[in-house]
Amino acid sequence: TPQIVWLRRDLRLADQPALYAAAQMGPVVPVFVLDDAAAGDHAYGGASRWWLHHSLASFAADLAKHHSKIVLRRGHAAEQLAALSKELGGAPVHAIRHYEPWWRKVQGALAKQVDLQLYDGNYLLPPGAVTTGSGTPYKIYTPFSKAVLEQLPPRDVLPVPDTLSAPPKWPDSDDLDGWNLLPTKPDWAGGLADFWHVGEAAAHDRLEEWKDHVSDYDEARNLPSKDGSSRLSPHLHWGEISPVQVWHALKGRRGQGWATYEKELIWRDYAQNVICQFPKYGVEPYREGYDGNFWRSPERGHLIADDLEAWQRGRTGYPIVDAGMRQLWQTGWMHNRVRMITASFMIKHLLIDWTYGERWFWDCLVDADYGNNSVNWQWTSGTGVDSNMFVRIMAPLGQSEKFNAAAYIREYVPELTHLKDAVIHDPEEHGCRPADYPAKIIAHREARERALSTYRAMKGE
Ligand code: FAD
Repeated sequence: TPQIVWLRRDLRLADQPALYAAAQMGPVVPVFVLDDAAAGDHAYGGASRWWLHHSLASFAADLAKHHSKIVLRRGHAAEQLAALSKELGGAPVHAIRHYEPWWRKVQGALAKQVDLQLYDGNYLLPPGAVTTGSGTPYKIYTPFSKAVLEQLPPRDVLPVPDTLSAPPKWPDSDDLDGWNLLPTKPDWAGGLADFWHVGEAAAHDRLEEWKDHVSDYDEARNLPSKDGSSRLSPHLHWGEISPVQVWHALKGRRGQGWATYEKELIWRDYAQNVICQFPKYGVEPYREGYDGNFWRSPERGHLIADDLEAWQRGRTGYPIVDAGMRQLWQTGWMHNRVRMITASFMIKHLLIDWTYGERWFWDCLVDADYGNNSVNWQWTSGTGVDSNMFVRIMAPLGQSEKFNAAAYIREYVPELTHLKDAVIHDPEEHGCRPADYPAKIIAHREARERALSTYRAMKGE
């Protein structure tokens, strides 16, 4: 019997446990279902759709080299797969397990209709592999990471299957171009195309380059002006490469750079562990008190729309914040240190509910990931499971100087390219703000006071 391999964000041939297992059992029918409804508000954002198009095209080309192809279907994922299984005489469905709440629902519904075989494959260790002494999942990152480190190495890497034999007759498939995943009017994706090479081969090329740089990671990763991080995040998110492959490729690079990098890969595992326990982590705060009454909100007469737009478009008057937001818009990615600065600015300086920022990142990031995005937004806002506190307010201008962001600002804020290092972090303060660059939308001290007094009021102090 033909074996269906259901692909989601695991678009690779190597180290793909579902594909590997299916290939040992019979002819393989790889399938991708575009289900726009399952994820509700977390349906693919614009940048994700762009990446998905290119990733599917690249995966189809790789399959063609193995005389195979991908069947594209659109609609309710469980219904489409159940129908296809029936069409193929009751074919089993093999898939890597995913943990987003909507995928867990679809997996549950599908398992009632077909022989569904789920495999672990997109994390160093599957969520649930490490638990506390009393058998419960970890809530906090540090003990979680210690427990993971004790259990590593991860499983071995699986090879590309030797053969992918074709079914006697290929089921019908949609045409990828007909899905209109790419933007047309306007086509805003030029910057993304300049910045990224999409697909499994590109992911491995990037990993090869990164091997020579991981030893500097500990120092370089915080400097936005340097290419000091791996930029593997979209490849990892879409599963064009697995963290297990990355781990094995880099483990020989001993030293602090690798040790710090390994911990970041564990953050990725941790985020899945969190959304498994708290499926609504991407839509509501874990801690009490941070409801609609805490934030400035249109419902309570606050005019946040202008502030939000200034933040989204990179026109806040804070050069580091604006550089970050424009990098996001232009390339679909933002440096991690600057993600923290921009998120903190929206939450604490503008006092806007973190879920607005989560939504914007969701739409704009090529690595938009329900687990990683929500865990980091809730971490930054102090509303999450960890002990980070709302009252730890980042000073964007100080951060910009400390991490030497001058070259980064010049790259993404053309109005400021002529300014010297000494003044570029805060041109307004130095009296050299160009006329075409906005004034600060709120002063740092005033914003800080507003955030702290709002917090004190919430605590009843
Ligand atoms: P590297 O520094 O090279 O790290 C290697 C890999 O480790 C990354 O590719 C990523 O998979 C993982 N990783 C690194 N840092 C983190 C982290 N803090 N949390 C979880 N995993 C991490 N990352 C996403 O993949 N998707 C998101 O939607 C996302 N949203 C974020 C939102 C905010 C507000 C913040 C502060 C961070 C967010 N991150 C997100 C985490 C981090 O910024 C990115 O993973 C990182 O910048 C990607 O670049 P890189 O591949 O060069 O990372």
